[in-house]
Amino acid sequence: MKVVVIIPAAGLGTRMASAATAKGKKPAPSKQFAELAGTPILLHTLRKFAASPEVAEIYIALRANEIDGFRKRLEKEKDLLKKRIQIVEGGEHRQQSVGNALAAISAAPDDILLVHDAVRPFVTEEIIRDVTRAAQKYGAAIAGVPAVDTVKQVERTAEGALITATVPRERVVMAQTPQGFRYDVLKKAFDEATADGFLGTDEAALVERSGHEVAVVMGSPRNIKITTPADLELAEFYLKAAS
Ligand code: C5P
Repeated sequence: MKVVVIIPAAGLGTRMASAATAKGKKPAPSKQFAELAGTPILLHTLRKFAASPEVAEIYIALRANEIDGFRKRLEKEKDLLKKRIQIVEGGEHRQQSVGNALAAISAAPDDILLVHDAVRPFVTEEIIRDVTRAAQKYGAAIAGVPAVDTVKQVERTAEGALITATVPRERVVMAQTPQGFRYDVLKKAFDEATADGFLGTDEAALVERSGHEVAVVMGSPRNIKITTPADLELAEFYLKAAS
């Protein structure tokens, strides 16, 4: 059994860029290349998986125009190069980026694939291990955290939104990554989603609809997805606190 990691890193990061462009500055780099302590977020994330003894190979999906630059940067990262790192071109949506990596991977049915957002650099060795173990045991597992806010279902209106229901908090988990799957489970879910034209915002959604149960293991409130400039400030703080 080997563990292969897919890191989708081909997002445009429009939510990150909007603040900069609104202030009339030049557009920010795509969010996975925004820098944390002078290093692109993607490299922080990659180092976590490269340091994990569990991981055999890493596939990164990048925007076409960012591939050459990233390859050059990787050559300087001697520690990372101990792992087999492959770069594939990303797609228009996250699902296509992951799908392109999946198509490039050769794996046995019971090998484990971990999918992890490039913009979650605070993933820990423990979370990687827990998701991997649970994926081996159940076939599909994700990291998640309990919801601390009360969750409302809404209908969008021209002025904002109107509440249609309150979702009981104990029934809600905030999905994080890594999301881990046996290769055969993920491949089947992707094939079905492609055939049906279904587009999900995470891999678990595809596996759920293919009829396979997905377990949840404890993630961490620090395993944030850096999406907005405010997240980047929080990330700088976490990084300083850890050093
Ligand atoms: O923007 P979103 O929340 O979907 O981003 C989650 C992850 O998916 C990010 O790491 C982003 O780079 C990646 N992504 C991708 N290809 C896309 C859109 C997002 O690899 N077309």
